[in-house]
Amino acid sequence: MKTDPQDILWDVIVIGTGIGGGTLGRRLAEKGKSVLFLERGPTGRRAEEHGLDPDMGNPVARTVRGFWPSQIQAKLDGIETRFFGPLGAGVGGSSVFYAATLERPEQHDLDDTPEHPHPTGGWPVGFDTMRPYFDDTEALFHICGYPDPLGTEPQTTLRAPPAISSSDQSLFGDMEAQGLHPYHAHSAIKYVDGCKKCLGFKCSKSCKMDGRSAGVEPALATGHATLLDMCVVTRLRASEAGGIDEVEALHRGVAKTFRAKRYVLAAGALSSPRIFQASDLPDQSDQVGRNLMFHMNEMFAIWPRERIKNAGPSKDIALRDLYFVEGERQGMIQALGVEARYGEIVHFLNGAFDRSILRKIKPLRHFTRVLAVIAIRMFGDAKIFVGILEDLPYPENRVHFSPENPDEICVTYEFAPELKERRKRFRSRIKRAFKGLRLRFLSHQIEPNFGHPCGTMRFGNHPDSSVLNANCRAHGVGNLYVVDASFMPTSCGVNPSLTIAANALRVADHIADTLDAGKGNLDG
Ligand SMILES: Cc1cc2nc3c(=O)[nH]c(=O)nc-3n(C[C@H](O)[C@H](O)[C@H](O)COP(=O)(O)OP(=O)(O)OC[C@H]3O[C@@H](n4cnc5c(N)ncnc54)[C@H](O)[C@@H]3O)c2cc1C
Repeated sequence: MKTDPQDILWDVIVIGTGIGGGTLGRRLAEKGKSVLFLERGPTGRRAEEHGLDPDMGNPVARTVRGFWPSQIQAKLDGIETRFFGPLGAGVGGSSVFYAATLERPEQHDLDDTPEHPHPTGGWPVGFDTMRPYFDDTEALFHICGYPDPLGTEPQTTLRAPPAISSSDQSLFGDMEAQGLHPYHAHSAIKYVDGCKKCLGFKCSKSCKMDGRSAGVEPALATGHATLLDMCVVTRLRASEAGGIDEVEALHRGVAKTFRAKRYVLAAGALSSPRIFQASDLPDQSDQVGRNLMFHMNEMFAIWPRERIKNAGPSKDIALRDLYFVEGERQGMIQALGVEARYGEIVHFLNGAFDRSILRKIKPLRHFTRVLAVIAIRMFGDAKIFVGILEDLPYPENRVHFSPENPDEICVTYEFAPELKERRKRFRSRIKRAFKGLRLRFLSHQIEPNFGHPCGTMRFGNHPDSSVLNANCRAHGVGNLYVVDASFMPTSCGVNPSLTIAANALRVADHIADTLDAGKGNLDG
């Protein structure tokens, strides 16, 4: 007879199975540690190939598909709005829907140097310490691409990608002729036979590498890990000794408790802080939930000089010419893979609508779907690019915890004046960089990327300004770690997943060492 997971003292309980939780759980299980994954959403069927639908309103239908079930309530620059965010809630978290562009941040994203002063004084763990974990992640996630010609990193772990389409090749040449430095973007895709790339969709073949295929599934295959899906963690119960004693959860509606030597919060940057706050744990610095960042999306279309039929969606072109310009942090530019990201365009247009003066005329909102289709048609041979503008941490930008409604995601975000100014300069620089080519921006409004939340439980060296120590252990809680995007003190100018995964591997190694050393439940 199978032992009830409630009757086992696990080495590690991992709450949430996204990029952070999945990757950490795999590493620990491969080291022979017993791991229990608790995931609020479903496992889903491997054959599924759907994307996130921002307009599906039924919470049951959303749950079954692995979408976050309820709306986010947001106050953006003082305007209140509600919407279904681009968030996954199932095995693999948001990453099963992601576009799998896994890019390294740059040295100055983490380190404070005289040439590149860091806005927060630098991460507590520097780039040189992270480098072997970036290498490991690139290997584990089968990342293909070519190095950034402007970069200084050798990046020997990248695999050679398949050849790009002739339309991408043509645009590539146009950009080089402009003096730009495009390169083949870094994708976590194995390109197995019949690969559909699955940009923005669930992959049915374990070809796209995400928190499920590169994390939970290989962890379960070791025989050391167990997964309970449809298991919502509601509270961590602390002991008097200063550690966590057990986890309270609702597993398919039934209240249960689970115990481990180490606990890892990996419920995502909009949920881990709320679970922490629901648990009445010490928040000495009053930083839990604060410093929320999203990245600002700057979407634009570019038409190649030569009329070559667009070979369809791809995310193969990236460039970092505007990453850091004239002492200013901006971010990378990459192809969006537009058809695959139709849902994201609808979401983008809905966001713009909800903050416009038309927002009170609710039926008009349905037209954003039509507009998205028109946009895709209108842009015909154009390729849609997105500039990922780094936003900086501000304590007033935050996710809230409400004891009356603990499951509701409620955020406040103000666009800082410096961000608005930096964004204006980012747009001007984009126009200038591509000036020989036809270019059109897709939006006038500043647009947060709600699929990239981070920063809400940042790590740091000082308990008075951070939630976690350098090992991502909560200050003042001996056996509780956080490895989702919450830990990031700054959002960097690249997509977040490679950084989240690399950090999860680093923390996993540390946890394994403390378990091997037979430490009690008060780690350093
Ligand atoms: C459409 C889209 C495209 C993207 N494209 C890219 C890309 O190309 N490259 C890139 O780097 N990033 C991309 N991202 C962002 C990336 O997916 C996220 O940054 C990343 O997946 C976040 O991982 P995470 O581990 O922090 O948390 P999440 O993925 O949010 O995982 C958290 C998990 O915890 C579970 N959970 C939450 N609360 C509880 C609870 N109470 N109990 C139990 N479980 C709980 C959730 O169900 C979820 O499965 C994209 C995102 C979207 C939406």
